[in-house]
Amino acid sequence: MGLLEGKNILVAGVTMNTSIGYAVAQVAQAEGATVLVSNFGRALSLTRRVVQKLDPVPPVLEVDVTNDDHLAGLPDMVREHVDRLDGIVHSIAFANPETALGGNFLTTGWDDVATSLKVSAYSLASLTMACKPLFGEKSSVVGLTYDARVSWPAYDWMGVSKAALESTSRYLARYLGPEGIRCNIVSAGPLETIAKKAIPGAEQFNDVWSQRAPLGWDPRDLTPTAKAVVALLSDFFPATTGEMIHVDGGVHSTGA
Ligand code: NAP
Repeated sequence: MGLLEGKNILVAGVTMNTSIGYAVAQVAQAEGATVLVSNFGRALSLTRRVVQKLDPVPPVLEVDVTNDDHLAGLPDMVREHVDRLDGIVHSIAFANPETALGGNFLTTGWDDVATSLKVSAYSLASLTMACKPLFGEKSSVVGLTYDARVSWPAYDWMGVSKAALESTSRYLARYLGPEGIRCNIVSAGPLETIAKKAIPGAEQFNDVWSQRAPLGWDPRDLTPTAKAVVALLSDFFPATTGEMIHVDGGVHSTGA
């Protein structure tokens, strides 16, 4: 029996087959889950195309996490396909690459910072609360970060947004734990996705990982990250919440 047998999982943030969310959907299906995916705007047509390779082809919902109407309508959209959710995966981030990333930290204006925080951090809470009416007795929320306990070159306001995301997860864990909802974060090493390619200077991350990862690190292999997300969605972490699990080849544990 698969780890997610009988569970319904919404994966938010699938654009390409290089998206971490796509790999999560694949592994979740292999472990027996019924998967729904979401994305927004113009990229929806890309999402609809790439999910054709998943088996079964999951429903694609339109959810822009900055759109209150989309969030309010989410339970009804989900109920067209499944009667409840057992887990959601928040695989969403955005910051303006020209102003908020790539070394512009000291001059970024508030509007760009606000967008980054809203899409990349606050949305973990707003998406979770939108899905809350759908949750059964026990459910699991998993988000994705790039370890924001420290600063990185070029990551700038996305780093600040990830710190906010990590903290948001801990507060969700605090407030929703009594209702049987766990909330955890997977901190992945650098992966060759569109989001990473949009960060000017992000190629430096690969150098750090190739020099420092005790286990080595393949930036094209999404499976270790997807497996950790699926494990956190499963019943195998029943007493774990507010946690951040590193899937980074061990880099976080090294000093240099
Ligand atoms: P990705 O394929 O670009 O996924 C990011 C997703 O966020 C895209 O589907 C994007 O949609 C979506 N998104 C952006 N704004 C949104 C909005 N307002 N409403 C709904 N969805 C929105 O890149 P990824 O690397 O897989 O990123 C997934 C998560 O992993 C992100 O949180 C990222 O920060 C995190 N992460 C990535 C790495 C890495 O090295 N790649 C490492 C650690 C953590 P559009 O494509 O339509 O904009």
